[in-house]
Amino acid sequence: MKTFRRVLGFAKPYHKHFPQYAVFAFLAILFNLLNFTLLEPVFAIIFDTIKPEELEKLAREVPRGFNPEYFTSLFYQKFISVKETYGKGSTLIYVSIVIGFSALLSNLFTYISNVIMGVVRANVIQKVRNKIFLNTTGLHLDFFSGERKGDIMSRMTNDIQEIEITVVSAIKVLFREPMTIIVLLSYLFITSVELTLFTLVFFAIMGVLISEIVKRLKKKAILSQESLGRIVNIMDEVFSGMRIIKAFNARGYVNETFNKETTTYRKVNISMARKNELASPTSQFLGISVVATLLVYGGTLVLNGESDMKASELFVYIIVFSQILNPVKSLSQSISNIQRGIASAERVFRLIDEQPKIQNQATPVVKNDFKDAIEFKGVGFAYEKEQILKDINLTVEKGKTIALVGSSGAGKSTLVDLVPRFYDVTEGQIKIDGVSLQAVEIDSLRALMGIVTQESILFNDTVARNIAFAMPGAKEEDIIAAAKIANAHDFIMALEDGYQTNIGERGSKLSGGQRQRLSIARAVMKNPPILILDEATSALDTESEKLVQQAITNLMKNRTSIVIAHRLSTIQHADEILVMQKGEIIERGDHDSLMAMDGTYTRLINMQSI
Ligand code: ADP
Repeated sequence: MKTFRRVLGFAKPYHKHFPQYAVFAFLAILFNLLNFTLLEPVFAIIFDTIKPEELEKLAREVPRGFNPEYFTSLFYQKFISVKETYGKGSTLIYVSIVIGFSALLSNLFTYISNVIMGVVRANVIQKVRNKIFLNTTGLHLDFFSGERKGDIMSRMTNDIQEIEITVVSAIKVLFREPMTIIVLLSYLFITSVELTLFTLVFFAIMGVLISEIVKRLKKKAILSQESLGRIVNIMDEVFSGMRIIKAFNARGYVNETFNKETTTYRKVNISMARKNELASPTSQFLGISVVATLLVYGGTLVLNGESDMKASELFVYIIVFSQILNPVKSLSQSISNIQRGIASAERVFRLIDEQPKIQNQATPVVKNDFKDAIEFKGVGFAYEKEQILKDINLTVEKGKTIALVGSSGAGKSTLVDLVPRFYDVTEGQIKIDGVSLQAVEIDSLRALMGIVTQESILFNDTVARNIAFAMPGAKEEDIIAAAKIANAHDFIMALEDGYQTNIGERGSKLSGGQRQRLSIARAVMKNPPILILDEATSALDTESEKLVQQAITNLMKNRTSIVIAHRLSTIQHADEILVMQKGEIIERGDHDSLMAMDGTYTRLINMQSI
């Protein structure tokens, strides 16, 4: 119930639409009912199912008050006079026109009310989707591990679609269907209290049955959405890693994994379909059974003259009763939809409620420039239990270049990730110009840093917009200047549309070296005082490597840099080189002093120069 209310909470800003909706829905229901009640006088008058003296009475007396009898009697009078003036055939045409007109109005009002509902639904969904996206993009990096990504995407697409159905169902449950049922039931009560009390028993039985079905449905709905999340995840992983899958002939393997998950999904959904699809035929069957019973029971009363109901009245009564079946059916369907929607809403809300691990303090220090140094004091770090970094002490002075070297898994990337606060230290402290990183306002801290990683992260957009990433107002000449510094201008000009060329998803239309240089141009464009480089020239051919290396050298000019070096030849001029092993700094100094030590660094240099 709490979740349901929260979904509806998103519709609150649109509350002014609800009275409009209610009015139009009510009018639609009324004109629909009118259609059927019009049939009664037609049958009575045209086909002479009413005794002449009764007709006489109806024509004379008009009951007072705003109720169906008043309208029925008005119709009788009108039709009688039309019949007397123009004859039976013309009356039939006259009645048909009235029915057609009333049907037109009823459908017009249905249309208007549905459009209002559509507007509310579209607005609510946009709000929910934006809210989940906004919150998710603010979450800490390790939230987005492989398995989570597919789940997050599934929540943002499939679960939100389920919520969409919930919103529609909720509006139906809260407004339209109950209103239809009340209007139609009132008509039935006015026509015959006896018969209507009898039909109420039917609704009670149906209510019990449907609520039982619905209870079982929700549990399955959660399983189903979770499985869908895993399916999206597998697809994401497989399509991103197509090259490797082909190289390793792993199609069979991934197909099997995919098949296993789709089998789970199929089973859950079949079980869900069994329950879900039960609601509607159950109510339909029960309903028709009641109609049949009514026909026998009411028909006998009329035939034996035991009721003051006319045959035409019984006829219309049964038609109106059958009209009630649809909203009742739709109500039961809506209630089961809502259950599925609530299961989805719970998954969506969990994501909306997820708190980022890295947050600003209550009154953070906004840092607009970098003046002095970044200091690591006794820093330790663990992602989970295992200690990854131990007792790191390091000072990166303004204008200097610090290089990190060491075997893979030594903790180099982890160490640099602590500087822009992608993660927070678990021991010790990092300070920037004497202020603890935790006290600095996160956006202002990150604005001081440019990051170029091993895999260039590019977006499906133009070259220009990838260079001026998140800078909508950037000037063209600045973008070109940045590209020139990054050795990228020439290849960009050779592209089909130059700076306006779309580079495809993740820059797939460019070579590895070109992608690297675009990433470097992006960092130049941002022009940050501090640079974090995960040097990746190893995957490039010699020509590309030279261009990229030159671009990096240009980028580093007049900045403070922390560089993860893969090619040791590139960092020989670094002010300090730190050799890392198993999360610790085991050697430090400049190139010459490290070589003089004849330790791990010398060994690494010798290995690379073979
Ligand atoms: P390097 O950059 O020197 O190759 P990393 O800093 O990437 O080393 O990794 C250091 C250790 O931390 C490795 O043992 C790696 O498995 C672990 N590690 C890296 N990222 C994560 C993560 N997000 N969660 C858990 N462990 C991680």
